Amino acid sequence: MTDLGRILAQEPLLATGLAFAFGLLLGSFLNVVVGRLPAVALDPDRAAEWPGLLLRPGSRCPDCHTAIRWYHNLPLIGWLVLRGRCHDCGHAIPLRYPLLELAGGLLMAGAIAWYGPTLAGVAIGLFLLALLALTAIDLEHQILPDEIVLPLLWSGLIINAFGVLTTPQDAILGAAVGFLMLTGLRLGYRALRGIDGMGQGDPKLVAAIGAWLGLQPTMTALLIAFVAGSLVGLALHLAGRLAQRQCLPFGPGLALGALAASLGISLF
Ligand SMILES: [Zn+2]
Repeated sequence: MTDLGRILAQEPLLATGLAFAFGLLLGSFLNVVVGRLPAVALDPDRAAEWPGLLLRPGSRCPDCHTAIRWYHNLPLIGWLVLRGRCHDCGHAIPLRYPLLELAGGLLMAGAIAWYGPTLAGVAIGLFLLALLALTAIDLEHQILPDEIVLPLLWSGLIINAFGVLTTPQDAILGAAVGFLMLTGLRLGYRALRGIDGMGQGDPKLVAAIGAWLGLQPTMTALLIAFVAGSLVGLALHLAGRLAQRQCLPFGPGLALGALAASLGISLF
């Protein structure tokens, strides 16, 4: 173990604090992804702009288009200093920015607190941050872009080729069985009802979760996602907020289930 690794292993608070700061920075980057990827993912004519549009242009106020100063762009701190308003025009900064940053910090800190300052801890933290970005995009646009889901799937298989979170066999089974189950459900629903009850991205996201966590945790994540989705759907239906044929974004439920499974919750 390196000196840094030894120090962090002996100082769990220091490790968790560093992880929180690292997660804040990554959360700030996720804001750029969540803000810019959907327009490209929804428009095939703009596909060539990915991923260059993550770098240019720099961050600007969506209202007055003034470039944001670097010290106002610091995760969470910038938002607090500005009290949630643009420095130049006073336009409110969407709550998504500080919320994603804070969630990024908490997820990375939680992963390191749970798994220790290990490769597995960092891996789970990055996995949960990718799911956070997908959740934000799915809630707003009802899509799960391949640009995130497919690299997530393959990187899970690579991580577990080295047995970081589970065995290679378990990762392959999790990805394949998860994908086939959801695809079967999706096609079965379509055959019976003549409409899509689930997006194309959902089976791929289940495959990615399987590649990272293995078969059993993926079944736990699926069950939690179905229960959470049904409860939210029922609540919206009772409140008269859901049209009869409208389908709910399934991604956030899957992310919630994967978070629970990452924490070791097992329903099987
Ligand atoms: Zn402004």
